Amino acid sequence: MLNTLSKDHLRELRNRIEMIPLIAEVLELLYKTQDGRFRFMCPLCQDFDTAVNLATNLARCFRCQRNFNPIDMVMTVKRYSFLQAVHYLQPLLDQVRAHARNRPHRLAPPIRTHS
Ligand SMILES: [Zn+2]
Repeated sequence: MLNTLSKDHLRELRNRIEMIPLIAEVLELLYKTQDGRFRFMCPLCQDFDTAVNLATNLARCFRCQRNFNPIDMVMTVKRYSFLQAVHYLQPLLDQVRAHARNRPHRLAPPIRTHS
């Protein structure tokens, strides 16, 4: 049930599951790199006028004028309910947590937000 999900837990799901691997490897949306920027195919309008903000971990479609956090993205792509999306993302969060324990000094993400 919803009330078993703490605010902190939801914050972790939104912030610690990185958007680009989620889009490219987990959800397998079409994507391309243009001018050094990652662009994915918007699941709503199928356009590539999109970006991922690494600082906020939000994916944005400029055409739809919409931001997606990881939960929103899974709900949209898979047509899942909020809770189904949370369950879908949980193993990914477990992986991130295990990774963080093994490697306390995380490497910077390969794609930079500004050049
Ligand atoms: Zn769109």
